[in-house]
Amino acid sequence: MGGKEKEYVAEAFATNWVAPLGPNVDAFEKQLAEQLGVKQVAALNTGTAALHLGLQLLGVQAGDTVLCQSFTFAASAFPILYGHAKPVFIDSEEQTWNMDPALLEQAITDEIALGKKPAAVIAVHLYGMPAQMNEIMAILDRYEIPLIEDAAEALGSTYQGKACGSFGKIGVLSFNGNKIITTSGGGALASTDEELVKKARFYSTQSKEPAPYYLHKEIGFNYRLSNICAGIGRGQMEVLPERVERRREIYDFYLQELGTIDGIVFLPEPEGSFSNRWLTTILFDEKIFGAGFNETVRQALEKINIETRPLWKPLHQQPVFSEVKAYLNGVSDKLFAEGLCLPSGSNTTDESLQRVVQEIKKLL
Ligand SMILES: *Cc1c(COP(=O)(O)O)cnc(C)c1O
Repeated sequence: MGGKEKEYVAEAFATNWVAPLGPNVDAFEKQLAEQLGVKQVAALNTGTAALHLGLQLLGVQAGDTVLCQSFTFAASAFPILYGHAKPVFIDSEEQTWNMDPALLEQAITDEIALGKKPAAVIAVHLYGMPAQMNEIMAILDRYEIPLIEDAAEALGSTYQGKACGSFGKIGVLSFNGNKIITTSGGGALASTDEELVKKARFYSTQSKEPAPYYLHKEIGFNYRLSNICAGIGRGQMEVLPERVERRREIYDFYLQELGTIDGIVFLPEPEGSFSNRWLTTILFDEKIFGAGFNETVRQALEKINIETRPLWKPLHQQPVFSEVKAYLNGVSDKLFAEGLCLPSGSNTTDESLQRVVQEIKKLL
């Protein structure tokens, strides 16, 4: 926690705004809108809910095709299945580890040739690194396909000066416990289209029509963020700049200590991109260290109580998605085979970072 969270939560208790919605939700939404540079944001109870609502708002129907980045957390794609739409996975490019624009275009033209234009695309800024938005947006503009931008890991990241989460027809944020800021659990849906955000608020509170009795003309959801959780979010937003600064410091430290070692690969920021460095991720080049060295390191560190993690296992490798069509180029397979997420929490001390680096060097 950053400092003021308890105050805002206490305020909610003192004023009896414990029930859903209230001043903390309004204030938190305002902070988020300012951060993203959009007019309106709807605070929701998870990022997954925001993705699901996003698909609903774009009118994605059962049987529609939705193209989704393969190298991501499963929550990016699960909501496609909630509505019985059809996911198709797109592999990553090597510069940012996000959606490969060339494969995206190939998938779009193939789907069109098969008789149906994809209804939406879900691109992700994984680990806080902005995707190649110019290229992706140019393709989607050309084919007139709406983008859902999964910025769950990228709050505070920018691409050519513009906030991640503000490019898509729909932008999605998450405040789950593992993210750069948290509301214990929460998410948000952003859009430059104010009507879409208003509609998101309507759908997320059970689509109640303005009537004295409960009147529903459309299917609703219970996806709103509570005023208590939003109080935590308000305090967290005040420390977001510090969080980003600390995460970037942690990346710089690892880079300085490990970056000159032959075969250890970092993910540099391309010109014009600013990453929040949510997690520092490295690759152990198989040609230098042999296959599976990332897992050898992970297990050795685990024994001495240092937690590291594999990178996201690509969705096309997940049993639950085994039937899903995928456009692959080997990039995400290689990332998963070679990669490791290093301890990156904003509160990791310099001593802990030193220790992580020393232990990794010993293993080498
Ligand atoms: C965390 C995360 C989500 C889901 O957010 P929740 O708030 O946990 O539902 C979606 N996509 C990505 C890339 C994430 O990291």
